[in-house]
Amino acid sequence: MEQKSKHHIETVAVRNQMERSAFLEHSSPLHLTSSFVFEDAEEMRASFAEEKERNIYSRFSNPNTSEFVQKVTMMEGAEDGVAFASGMGAIFSTFSALLATGDHILSVRAVFGSTHTLFTKYFPKWEISTTYFSANEVDELEILIQPNTRCIYVESPTNPGVEILDLEVLGKLAKKYNLLFIVDNCFATPYLQQPIRFGADLVIHSATKLMDGQGRVLGGVTVGKKELIRELYLFARNTGSSLSPFNAWVLSKSLETLAVRVDRHCENALKISKKLEDHPQVNWVKYPFLPSHPQHNLALKQMKKGGNIVSFEIKGGLEAGRKFINSIELCSLSANLGDSRSIITHPSSTTHSKLSEEEQQAVGITSGMIRLSVGLEHDEDIWNDLKNALSN
Ligand SMILES: *Cc1c(COP(=O)(O)O)cnc(C)c1O
Repeated sequence: MEQKSKHHIETVAVRNQMERSAFLEHSSPLHLTSSFVFEDAEEMRASFAEEKERNIYSRFSNPNTSEFVQKVTMMEGAEDGVAFASGMGAIFSTFSALLATGDHILSVRAVFGSTHTLFTKYFPKWEISTTYFSANEVDELEILIQPNTRCIYVESPTNPGVEILDLEVLGKLAKKYNLLFIVDNCFATPYLQQPIRFGADLVIHSATKLMDGQGRVLGGVTVGKKELIRELYLFARNTGSSLSPFNAWVLSKSLETLAVRVDRHCENALKISKKLEDHPQVNWVKYPFLPSHPQHNLALKQMKKGGNIVSFEIKGGLEAGRKFINSIELCSLSANLGDSRSIITHPSSTTHSKLSEEEQQAVGITSGMIRLSVGLEHDEDIWNDLKNALSN
């Protein structure tokens, strides 16, 4: 796989394509096939022995999944990658392939809901333990490192609190203690932030979100160091959470428009967050590129733009939050994010309802908090919807 490109990320996303078929199609064709054929017994033997790089069976590889993986790998500046059926497939497989019984994970507390469930419900079955830290504890992490600590795991910006983790500090710490540094880069995408530049060994994405960007398919991908990816590839190939060729084809096409979509998402999100901040019914707004964000300077340092997630708290707590949500007309009430359509979620009662009240507080979730995934509608229409719902 050729990873280095002389082109910019936008060009890589548009132009990187697997070989054309005999029909010389301009756009990448869809290869819906579960297996591939061999010329003879020797080719079959050599393929299975991995003396020859080629497609054998779509659980192992497929031209569409390879094209998608190659694009993300190049966009993140990684060495290699593996695609998965979903973001959770990628996260579960990454840990499972690399960790052993007795290992310890040091993770930011504000992780995606299902990742939290993995850490607290499933990994303890294999005696894999997790210690959480907060975004403001990054400088004092050393004391939390144990002899069995294997990795540092973060999301930045976090969900739903939109906190920023200092990737450079974490990268240096991981290196010093010989720990794996793994980043879920879903909220930023490689267009806004490339954690490998700050020392990440592996970068994970739920491609379901901004990468697809149109709420159609699930997908996941992990990219990073070649020797680690090799372990992940073998795990994926044998355990079966492979990305479907159809979803890979959709995602690969989606990446062609990632940069322009994310630009507009960010532009809209910044405008909306400023208006929310000025609204009398709103207690606080968190958006990384608002000067009022506690880690604004850090966001400017490691992100190109602020992303599309805005969180805010409505005055009046749970009652006011529910009333607000019930008055929304244009934005969707849904669990997804990073869609072309703006989406409103009430984390406390939905995505993060598995957390206890104390755990919710520890990650900055309050009962009146709203998470807004700003879409690609005209910003004035999004704002009018929010404004009307706020005044109801
Ligand atoms: C959605 C999401 C995931 C899980 O991805 P799926 O594709 O839904 O499995 C993981 N991490 C983050 C930050 C997410 O937003």
